[in-house]
Amino acid sequence: MTIKVKTRKILWSKSGNRCAICKKHLIQKFEINNSNFIVGEECHIISSKEKGPRGNIKKMADYDDNSNLILLCANDHKLIDDFPETFTYEIIVNLKNNHEKWVENALEKDLQDYIRSVNNCEILDEIKNHVQLDIIIKNAHLYFLDSSSITDLTLSIEVSEFFDNLRDLSDIYSDLEIAEKTRYLIEHEKEIKQFNELGIRFFGKSLIREYKFANIPKDKYKLAMIIAFNPEVNPESIQNGKLTVKIPDDFTPSI
Ligand SMILES: [Zn+2]
Repeated sequence: MTIKVKTRKILWSKSGNRCAICKKHLIQKFEINNSNFIVGEECHIISSKEKGPRGNIKKMADYDDNSNLILLCANDHKLIDDFPETFTYEIIVNLKNNHEKWVENALEKDLQDYIRSVNNCEILDEIKNHVQLDIIIKNAHLYFLDSSSITDLTLSIEVSEFFDNLRDLSDIYSDLEIAEKTRYLIEHEKEIKQFNELGIRFFGKSLIREYKFANIPKDKYKLAMIIAFNPEVNPESIQNGKLTVKIPDDFTPSI
């Protein structure tokens, strides 16, 4: 029996080339001649031999299937096979699933951070209800409110007024009772729906950003970011209902 090339590729890529137990990188560098060597082992969870580790659990049609393999370093391979009572079938499957999830999440987070750092870009959800507005404006120190894609003058002024009202609300927000907050937010939600009917969509996010203002040391601030967007201007900016925007390099937030 041999493990198929495709199965090995899936196992290695989903594991991020790391041991599912100790997270050690499984491709090491030999500094002297600058060559790579592999310290990872494709380990069977259930042994094909009945007397082997976990071999008595169940018979499998294909012991070399991805579902019966876990990628480990040599030490941890020995560990799971020497102590099959501790490293039961369920525990190993669980270790593998959690490890693959960890790799996926780490890559996704890294990718988002990378996009942000390279392009100064943010990915914003569409604002459709007052709960989202509450999250964005609550405790905000700074604002990035943009309607530059709206070319129609009247509409542009109306959106600016909407933003002014939202800023005013945000200023007194912490002093309001919950019922009052909700009432104001629902009014804003209604206005957003009216703008939606005119073709303008709202996207936003609450961000933590580091800024330095004159005479005040660099600090982290909560930034409320809301974009009133005319999709006709740049339809490709919206994907899967989210808007990707580039924050201008010279952007100085307003307090
Ligand atoms: Zn290991």
